[in-house]
Amino acid sequence: MAAPRLVLLGKQGAGKGTQSVRLAEHYAVPHLSTGDMFRAQAALGTAFGLEARRFMDQGELVPDDVVIGVIEECLAPGGPLEGGFVLDGFPRTLPQAKALDRLIKSHPVDVVVDLEVPTDIVIDRIAGRRVCTLCQRVYHVNMPPKVNWTCDDDGAPVVQRDDDTEEAVMRRLALYESQTKPIIDHYRAQDLLVTVDGIGDGDDVFERIVEAVEKRLAQG
Ligand code: AMP
Repeated sequence: MAAPRLVLLGKQGAGKGTQSVRLAEHYAVPHLSTGDMFRAQAALGTAFGLEARRFMDQGELVPDDVVIGVIEECLAPGGPLEGGFVLDGFPRTLPQAKALDRLIKSHPVDVVVDLEVPTDIVIDRIAGRRVCTLCQRVYHVNMPPKVNWTCDDDGAPVVQRDDDTEEAVMRRLALYESQTKPIIDHYRAQDLLVTVDGIGDGDDVFERIVEAVEKRLAQG
């Protein structure tokens, strides 16, 4: 089977990041997270990263033209993602989804997974979420790393994200409803959408996603 081209949609805290990493490993394709790209640039202190951080810390979206400019090169024909990918956190607005359609006309998306989790559950998950500053691995206050808030994988500090404050989280959830939800209809109209229940154990959710993706891929 050819390496699939997948998009993961879902509210902040739905588990997109964790599941995207696992899917990318499973299918041996690159994982592209625009949020991770912006955080890495902000940590390096580049002008672009510091500008992106201003939006992120307030729970606002980075402007479409900036986001599209950043990922354009990766997605273009002949680029590193031509042969398959998992997109996580992009697209997040209808103009971004339309730009994606244009950019990958020669190698379009195979399946779009909408990871569904009710808002009260994601609020609880985000309030307790802690992430590794190096590899971005996600922990929770109820499931901390083994040693003194340092990452089990690389030993880097595990901290709360700057944009996981209550105010920023509420703003991001509101933006999800107004800006990202319309993308679901966009992909449903293209018959690419599968909806997966994102509640429960991470392994179970992963199995559900793979099953839904395989089924959709088999339909051609
Ligand atoms: P995430 O890690 O996906 O939750 O993204 C963290 C933050 O990065 C978001 O709240 C936005 O401020 C910004 N961001 C990430 N991806 C995008 C995108 N595709 N469009 C606009 N802003 C984005």
